[in-house]
Amino acid sequence: MATKPEPDGVAETCDRCGRETTHNVRVEIRTESQKRENAEFSREPYRISVCGVCGTEKTQRMNNA
Ligand SMILES: [Zn+2]
Repeated sequence: MATKPEPDGVAETCDRCGRETTHNVRVEIRTESQKRENAEFSREPYRISVCGVCGTEKTQRMNNA
């Protein structure tokens, strides 16, 4: 497995800080329990970025088809 430089974070604009800050980004699979049918399709990957300055969490659904 090739080692690629792992950055400490991703520079993104934070609404709260009003500027570009370093964010810690992770991906989570969240289950949307509201949909009882289509249980197999209710798991959505979310991209979560946390501002390293103020700690604001931004959640973004990744597959908005
Ligand atoms: Zn911030």
